[in-house]
Amino acid sequence: RRKKIVQECERLMDNPDHIRNIAIAAHVDHGKTTLTDNLLAGAGMIADEGEATRLMMDTEEDEQERGITIDAANVSMTHEYEDTNHLINLIDTPGHVDFGGDVTRAMRAVDGAMVVVDAVEGAMPQTETVVRQALREGVKPTLFINKVDRLISELQEGPEEMQQRLMSVIGDVNELIRGMTDDMDDIDEDWTVSVEDGTVAFGSALYRWGVSMPSMQATGIDFGDIIELERNDNRQELHDRTPLSDVVLDMVCEHFPNPLNAQPRRVPRIWRGDDESELAEGMRLVDPDGEVVFMVTDISMDPHAGEIATGRLFSGTLEKGQELYVSGTAGKNRIQNVGLFMGGEREEVERVPAGNIAAVTGLRDAIAGSTVSGVEMTPFESIEHISEPVITKSVEAKSMDDLPKLIETLRQVSKEDPTIQITINEDTGEHLISGQGELHLEVITQRIERNQGIPVNTGEPIVVYREAIRGATDTVEGISPNRHNRFYLTAEPLSEDIVDQIRLGEVSMDMPEQERREALQEAGMDKDTSQNVEHIFGTNVLIDDTKGIQHLNETMELVIEGLEEALDEGPLAGEPVQGTLLRLNDARLHEDTIHRGPAQVIPAVRRAVHRSLIAGQVALLEPIQDVRIDVPSEHMGSASGEIQGRRGRVDDMYQEGDLMVIEGIAPVDEMIGFSSDIRSATEGRASWNTENAGFRVMSDSLQRETIMEIRERKGMKLELPESIDYF
Ligand code: GDP
Repeated sequence: RRKKIVQECERLMDNPDHIRNIAIAAHVDHGKTTLTDNLLAGAGMIADEGEATRLMMDTEEDEQERGITIDAANVSMTHEYEDTNHLINLIDTPGHVDFGGDVTRAMRAVDGAMVVVDAVEGAMPQTETVVRQALREGVKPTLFINKVDRLISELQEGPEEMQQRLMSVIGDVNELIRGMTDDMDDIDEDWTVSVEDGTVAFGSALYRWGVSMPSMQATGIDFGDIIELERNDNRQELHDRTPLSDVVLDMVCEHFPNPLNAQPRRVPRIWRGDDESELAEGMRLVDPDGEVVFMVTDISMDPHAGEIATGRLFSGTLEKGQELYVSGTAGKNRIQNVGLFMGGEREEVERVPAGNIAAVTGLRDAIAGSTVSGVEMTPFESIEHISEPVITKSVEAKSMDDLPKLIETLRQVSKEDPTIQITINEDTGEHLISGQGELHLEVITQRIERNQGIPVNTGEPIVVYREAIRGATDTVEGISPNRHNRFYLTAEPLSEDIVDQIRLGEVSMDMPEQERREALQEAGMDKDTSQNVEHIFGTNVLIDDTKGIQHLNETMELVIEGLEEALDEGPLAGEPVQGTLLRLNDARLHEDTIHRGPAQVIPAVRRAVHRSLIAGQVALLEPIQDVRIDVPSEHMGSASGEIQGRRGRVDDMYQEGDLMVIEGIAPVDEMIGFSSDIRSATEGRASWNTENAGFRVMSDSLQRETIMEIRERKGMKLELPESIDYF
């Protein structure tokens, strides 16, 4: 049967009219995996619904144990709609915000996103995050409201209450959609979802039934029938009359755009190359005879085949033996094999034409986010928003013999997940992994141990702080060791708007200058300043206000190097600097190149930058997280105590369904170990989640203590740099 499905997929690949590339986006536990089970079983991919898919989709052992989906795994399936067979390429997305980078990448490969929301819990913070990620990529949403069985049998709701609850979920999701799409010029349809339009379905993934307006009309089933059948435990009949997979896949075929409709709209959003070129034409037309343009969204390891690059083919046809360019690298890579993903398994095929999701081996230089093409071209816009790791852990192979294998694995890990940063501490020989949260790092180290069989020792997780100035400065001077070169700088804090734009990737050095100027001005930067932007590093900006200084142009590369060194390790505790505008006002340079080399210029600039930061009252900031806990009311006190006891703040408590919801914030540092503490404090009855919420200045007394702790850990002098005396 499997073979037949593969053959059918191969046949359908050539007809973009009947292809839908989709993702399911959901808050963790809202039922994405269970829904996927239904779809695969409905499509005949697995014999029995249930645990089988969990095994197929959550291929990594740790994911099965945790019961959450971490890696974006992919499946292709077929579905008959209006007498025509359709090919549906489904990309799985992680439900945990710790893995946000993966979600954005997955969204770029698809044209439609099925948003799944638990009817009892309603839209959650991570629902909002995934909907935003989809819309930002120009991906059209539809909505499936899951776990409706619980409204009926547990909460004993009647038709009116149920309807009200569903309407409120739809309202919340639409508010988000409206807010994001209102000022998107390239979306001229109304993308809000509604029951009447058939863009909303609801049901129970667990009991495998679902309804939408078209299915209710076709079957004559109504709310009253559903409640009666569900209450009387007649779920099998419900399933037989309105099987969930048909309802959802019909919705996919009817409401999601096919590649021919989607690509002309989506390509300008993600590619800034010449829109009159043949390449652009090939992508607009989804042309299988055009040049290959393949966007890699995920790299995974296959023990037999090696690295597999998965992604969306916008133009051309992928075949074995092709030699293709990989963006950001010099040479070409040769394709070994092309295939489709059927669950955890990759099926090799002869060729994959434009408009599909393909799995390719042999692209050894590609990383998640690469553009792979037949001719050299402008790469796709970078997907990564500036990822700001908030936590670091050291890893060390228990046996020296494993060291080469560990280094290779770490290289692999950072290729697969660009939100992970790997650094090697040259002094101690220790490897540091930095990521988005405690769980993120835990998952990575478990993979090293289990999948690669490398026993490792890991250090305690350490929070990554930030340094930022609080006020503007007068001019400070930085002098080179030979005293022949001088740089004059001022510093001032950047506005929050500008920092946000940089963080979101809306302002970068990769974009055309004119566009960058406009974006900066729109975010509030004055015109003259926006015209003199020389460099952006992290969320810091260097402005060059000098005029006609001899040799400055040829020295600028070294100036930037000095600047980056200074900002990578701020003056307080050697932590990264954020949100600072540095203005180069003047410089004196030695006539002779030999006297203004790296050993002179870099330290001079570094000093000038650090002095200006100190003059600007640099402070230590710590990362904080939004925390939400859902808990039965009898455990409310101990649950909120877990936030308050961690230098946290409870902002809101309210009833939702049969549970209490507690919302608040707490520093990341204090949240280490939270999962086991909250479990024991609430007898395991709480569900919770966190989301990184930026950085906040620490209190003066705590700052001093923390700075000294960090300096000690890093082997820095145990005193603050001169002239920091304001504590
Ligand atoms: P995911 O994290 O989004 O992939 O969620 P899962 O599919 O793993 O589901 C999370 C939990 O909710 C599991 O225990 C499921 O059995 C349960 N669940 C999923 N769908 C339903 C449903 O429609 N009704 C009920 N009552 N439980 C469901």
